[in-house]
Amino acid sequence: MTNRIMRLGIMGGTFDPVHYGHLVTAEGARYTFGLDQVLFVPAGKPPHKQNAQVSDPEHRYMMTVLATLTNPYFEVSRLEIDRGGVSYTVDTLRTLREQYGPEAELFFITGADAILDITTWKDSDQCLALAHFVAATRPGFSLDHLPESTRQWLARYKDRFHILRVPAMAISSTEIRERVREGCSIRYLVPEPVEHYIRRQGLYLEHVPQSGTSGANSCR
Ligand code: NAP
Repeated sequence: MTNRIMRLGIMGGTFDPVHYGHLVTAEGARYTFGLDQVLFVPAGKPPHKQNAQVSDPEHRYMMTVLATLTNPYFEVSRLEIDRGGVSYTVDTLRTLREQYGPEAELFFITGADAILDITTWKDSDQCLALAHFVAATRPGFSLDHLPESTRQWLARYKDRFHILRVPAMAISSTEIRERVREGCSIRYLVPEPVEHYIRRQGLYLEHVPQSGTSGANSCR
Protein backbone atom coordinates (compact mmCIF):
# COMPACT_ATOMS: atom_id res chain seq x y z
CA MET A 1 0.00 0.00 0.00
CA THR A 2 2.85 2.41 0.79
CA ASN A 3 3.78 2.85 -2.90
CA ARG A 4 0.39 4.51 -3.52
CA ILE A 5 1.23 7.32 -1.12
CA MET A 6 2.70 10.19 -3.10
CA ARG A 7 2.47 12.97 -0.52
CA LEU A 8 3.20 11.86 3.01
CA GLY A 9 2.87 14.09 6.07
CA ILE A 10 5.11 13.15 8.99
CA MET A 11 4.00 14.60 12.33
CA GLY A 12 7.10 14.68 14.50
CA GLY A 13 6.66 15.36 18.18
CA THR A 14 7.10 14.18 21.74
CA PHE A 15 3.31 14.03 22.18
CA ASP A 16 3.45 14.12 25.99
CA PRO A 17 0.48 14.12 25.68
CA VAL A 18 -0.99 14.47 22.19
CA HIS A 19 -3.78 17.09 22.15
CA TYR A 20 -6.34 18.72 19.87
CA GLY A 21 -3.76 21.32 18.76
CA HIS A 22 -1.69 18.52 17.21
CA LEU A 23 -4.75 16.94 15.57
CA VAL A 24 -5.94 20.26 14.10
CA THR A 25 -2.39 20.90 12.84
CA ALA A 26 -2.20 17.49 11.15
CA GLU A 27 -5.61 17.90 9.54
CA GLY A 28 -4.77 21.46 8.45
CA ALA A 29 -1.51 20.29 6.89
CA ARG A 30 -3.34 17.43 5.19
CA TYR A 31 -5.71 19.67 3.29
CA THR A 32 -3.29 22.58 2.79
CA PHE A 33 -0.64 20.38 1.18
CA GLY A 34 -2.94 17.72 -0.33
CA LEU A 35 -1.41 14.90 1.73
CA ASP A 36 -2.50 11.29 1.15
CA GLN A 37 -1.67 10.30 4.72
CA VAL A 38 -0.32 11.81 7.91
CA LEU A 39 1.98 9.56 9.89
CA PHE A 40 2.40 10.52 13.54
CA VAL A 41 5.89 9.60 14.73
CA PRO A 42 6.25 9.90 18.52
CA ALA A 43 9.92 10.53 19.32
CA GLY A 44 11.48 7.63 21.23
CA LYS A 45 14.15 9.83 22.81
CA PRO A 46 13.74 13.47 21.72
CA PRO A 47 17.21 14.82 20.80
CA HIS A 48 16.97 18.09 22.72
CA LYS A 49 15.34 16.61 25.84
CA GLN A 50 17.92 14.08 26.89
CA ASN A 51 18.09 15.45 30.43
CA ALA A 52 14.42 16.34 30.67
CA GLN A 53 11.72 14.15 32.16
CA VAL A 54 9.63 12.70 29.36
CA SER A 55 6.93 10.04 29.82
CA ASP A 56 7.57 6.45 28.79
CA PRO A 57 7.43 6.16 24.98
CA GLU A 58 4.82 3.37 25.23
CA HIS A 59 2.41 5.72 27.02
CA ARG A 60 3.00 8.45 24.42
CA TYR A 61 2.55 5.94 21.60
CA MET A 62 -0.73 4.57 23.09
CA MET A 63 -2.18 8.05 23.57
CA THR A 64 -1.30 8.95 19.98
CA VAL A 65 -3.00 5.80 18.70
CA LEU A 66 -6.13 6.55 20.76
CA ALA A 67 -6.22 10.16 19.52
CA THR A 68 -5.92 9.31 15.82
CA LEU A 69 -8.11 6.18 15.60
CA THR A 70 -11.13 7.86 14.03
CA ASN A 71 -9.33 9.68 11.21
CA PRO A 72 -8.75 7.34 8.24
CA TYR A 73 -5.91 9.59 6.98
CA PHE A 74 -3.94 9.32 10.21
CA GLU A 75 -1.52 6.51 11.15
CA VAL A 76 0.96 6.16 14.00
CA SER A 77 4.49 4.85 13.54
CA ARG A 78 6.69 3.08 16.10
CA LEU A 79 9.75 3.83 13.98
CA GLU A 80 11.58 6.09 16.43
CA ILE A 81 10.50 4.12 19.49
CA ASP A 82 11.65 0.78 18.08
CA ARG A 83 14.88 2.15 16.60
CA GLY A 84 16.19 2.99 20.07
CA GLY A 85 18.85 5.59 20.78
CA VAL A 86 18.36 9.30 20.21
CA SER A 87 15.54 10.03 17.73
CA TYR A 88 17.25 12.13 15.08
CA THR A 89 14.84 13.35 12.45
CA VAL A 90 17.31 12.82 9.62
CA ASP A 91 17.43 9.06 10.38
CA THR A 92 13.64 8.89 10.35
CA LEU A 93 13.42 10.77 7.05
CA ARG A 94 16.02 8.46 5.45
CA THR A 95 14.05 5.37 6.52
CA LEU A 96 10.74 6.80 5.29
CA ARG A 97 12.32 7.90 2.00
CA GLU A 98 13.45 4.27 1.49
CA GLN A 99 10.03 2.88 2.43
CA TYR A 100 7.97 5.25 0.29
CA GLY A 101 10.36 5.53 -2.68
CA PRO A 102 12.00 8.43 -4.50
CA GLU A 103 8.78 9.78 -6.07
CA ALA A 104 7.01 10.39 -2.77
CA GLU A 105 7.05 13.93 -1.43
CA LEU A 106 7.64 14.05 2.31
CA PHE A 107 6.36 16.86 4.55
CA PHE A 108 7.79 16.94 8.07
CA ILE A 109 5.31 18.80 10.27
CA THR A 110 6.07 20.07 13.73
CA GLY A 111 5.93 23.11 15.99
CA ALA A 112 7.59 26.29 14.73
CA ASP A 113 9.54 26.64 18.00
CA ALA A 114 11.14 23.27 17.35
CA ILE A 115 11.85 23.88 13.67
CA LEU A 116 13.40 27.29 14.21
CA ASP A 117 16.29 25.56 15.97
CA ILE A 118 16.85 23.42 12.92
CA THR A 119 20.30 24.82 12.18
CA THR A 120 21.43 22.90 15.31
CA TRP A 121 19.84 19.58 14.25
CA LYS A 122 21.92 16.64 13.08
CA ASP A 123 22.45 16.91 9.28
CA SER A 124 19.99 19.77 8.94
CA ASP A 125 20.77 20.32 5.23
CA GLN A 126 20.08 16.64 4.59
CA CYS A 127 16.74 16.99 6.42
CA LEU A 128 15.67 19.73 4.02
CA ALA A 129 16.89 17.72 1.04
CA LEU A 130 14.72 14.79 2.14
CA ALA A 131 11.53 16.62 3.06
CA HIS A 132 9.57 19.84 3.06
CA PHE A 133 9.30 21.31 6.55
CA VAL A 134 5.99 22.64 7.83
CA ALA A 135 6.19 24.85 10.91
CA ALA A 136 2.93 25.07 12.87
CA THR A 137 2.72 28.39 14.67
CA ARG A 138 0.80 29.42 17.73
CA PRO A 139 -1.26 32.65 17.68
CA GLY A 140 1.01 35.66 18.10
CA PHE A 141 4.07 33.83 16.82
CA SER A 142 6.31 36.04 14.68
CA LEU A 143 9.33 35.31 12.53
CA ASP A 144 10.46 38.92 12.91
CA HIS A 145 12.70 38.38 15.91
CA LEU A 146 14.70 35.46 14.58
CA PRO A 147 18.48 35.69 14.57
CA GLU A 148 19.89 36.84 11.24
CA SER A 149 21.68 33.50 10.70
CA THR A 150 18.41 31.57 11.02
CA ARG A 151 16.66 34.00 8.67
CA GLN A 152 19.36 33.55 6.06
CA TRP A 153 19.16 29.80 6.40
CA LEU A 154 15.38 29.84 5.99
CA ALA A 155 15.65 32.13 2.98
CA ARG A 156 17.98 29.60 1.37
CA TYR A 157 15.30 26.92 1.75
CA LYS A 158 12.25 29.10 1.17
CA ASP A 159 10.76 26.58 -1.30
CA ARG A 160 11.05 23.74 1.25
CA PHE A 161 9.99 25.59 4.38
CA HIS A 162 6.34 26.45 5.02
CA ILE A 163 4.48 28.22 7.82
CA LEU A 164 1.08 26.87 8.88
CA ARG A 165 -0.94 29.12 11.17
CA VAL A 166 -2.95 27.05 13.64
CA PRO A 167 -5.15 28.92 16.14
CA ALA A 168 -5.78 25.70 18.12
CA MET A 169 -2.04 25.50 18.89
CA ALA A 170 -2.86 27.74 21.85
CA ILE A 171 -3.21 24.35 23.57
CA SER A 172 0.12 22.98 24.76
CA SER A 173 1.28 19.67 26.22
CA THR A 174 3.05 21.55 29.01
CA GLU A 175 -0.18 23.22 30.04
CA ILE A 176 -2.08 19.92 29.96
CA ARG A 177 0.51 18.25 32.21
CA GLU A 178 0.27 21.18 34.63
CA ARG A 179 -3.51 21.07 34.63
CA VAL A 180 -3.50 17.34 35.49
CA ARG A 181 -1.02 17.97 38.29
CA GLU A 182 -3.16 20.80 39.66
CA GLY A 183 -6.37 18.76 39.47
CA CYS A 184 -7.87 20.92 36.70
CA SER A 185 -10.05 19.71 33.86
CA ILE A 186 -8.44 18.76 30.55
CA ARG A 187 -11.76 18.00 28.92
CA TYR A 188 -11.96 19.31 25.33
CA LEU A 189 -8.19 19.87 25.27
CA VAL A 190 -7.46 16.22 24.48
CA PRO A 191 -9.72 13.55 22.94
CA GLU A 192 -11.79 11.71 25.55
CA PRO A 193 -9.96 8.36 25.22
CA VAL A 194 -6.66 10.17 25.84
CA GLU A 195 -8.09 11.83 28.94
CA HIS A 196 -9.29 8.44 30.23
CA TYR A 197 -5.86 6.91 29.52
CA ILE A 198 -4.09 9.71 31.44
CA ARG A 199 -6.41 9.24 34.43
CA ARG A 200 -6.25 5.42 34.41
CA GLN A 201 -2.46 5.35 34.16
CA GLY A 202 -2.02 8.16 36.69
CA LEU A 203 0.18 10.18 34.31
CA TYR A 204 1.46 13.69 35.14
CA LEU A 205 0.67 13.53 38.86
CA GLU A 206 4.25 13.32 40.05
CA HIS A 207 4.90 16.94 41.04
CA VAL A 208 3.31 18.57 44.04
CA PRO A 209 1.31 21.63 42.92
CA GLN A 210 2.97 24.95 43.76
CA SER A 211 1.39 26.87 46.60
CA GLY A 212 -1.45 29.08 45.45
CA THR A 213 -2.03 27.09 42.26
CA SER A 214 -3.79 23.99 43.61
CA GLY A 215 -7.49 23.40 44.01
CA ALA A 216 -10.47 23.97 41.77
CA ASN A 217 -10.42 27.76 42.19
CA SER A 218 -7.03 28.11 40.48
CA CYS A 219 -8.19 26.28 37.35
CA ARG A 220 -8.75 28.47 34.33
P1 NAP B 1 9.21 20.58 21.56
O1 NAP B 1 10.50 21.30 21.85
O2 NAP B 1 8.57 19.81 22.66
O3 NAP B 1 8.14 21.52 20.96
C1 NAP B 1 8.41 22.79 20.50
C2 NAP B 1 7.07 23.43 20.22
O4 NAP B 1 6.45 22.78 19.10
C3 NAP B 1 6.11 23.26 21.38
O5 NAP B 1 5.35 24.42 21.42
C4 NAP B 1 5.29 22.05 20.96
O6 NAP B 1 3.98 22.07 21.52
C5 NAP B 1 5.18 22.23 19.48
N1 NAP B 1 5.02 20.95 18.75
C6 NAP B 1 5.74 19.83 18.91
N2 NAP B 1 5.36 18.89 18.02
C7 NAP B 1 4.36 19.44 17.28
C8 NAP B 1 3.56 19.00 16.20
N3 NAP B 1 3.76 17.79 15.65
N4 NAP B 1 2.63 19.83 15.69
C9 NAP B 1 2.47 21.05 16.21
N5 NAP B 1 3.20 21.56 17.22
C10 NAP B 1 4.13 20.76 17.76
O7 NAP B 1 9.46 19.67 20.30
P2 NAP B 1 9.50 18.12 20.21
O8 NAP B 1 8.11 17.61 20.22
O9 NAP B 1 10.42 17.55 21.23
O10 NAP B 1 10.20 17.96 18.78
C11 NAP B 1 9.48 18.18 17.62
C12 NAP B 1 10.05 17.25 16.53
O11 NAP B 1 11.32 17.76 16.09
C13 NAP B 1 10.29 15.83 17.01
O12 NAP B 1 9.99 14.95 15.97
C14 NAP B 1 11.79 15.82 17.31
O13 NAP B 1 12.37 14.54 17.23
C15 NAP B 1 12.28 16.73 16.20
N6 NAP B 1 13.58 17.28 16.56
C16 NAP B 1 14.68 16.75 15.95
C17 NAP B 1 15.95 17.20 16.28
C18 NAP B 1 17.15 16.58 15.61
O14 NAP B 1 16.98 15.75 14.74
N7 NAP B 1 18.33 16.92 16.02
C19 NAP B 1 16.10 18.21 17.25
C20 NAP B 1 14.95 18.75 17.85
C21 NAP B 1 13.67 18.27 17.50
P3 NAP B 1 3.51 20.83 22.44
O15 NAP B 1 4.48 20.81 23.60
O16 NAP B 1 2.14 21.19 22.80
O17 NAP B 1 3.66 19.61 21.58
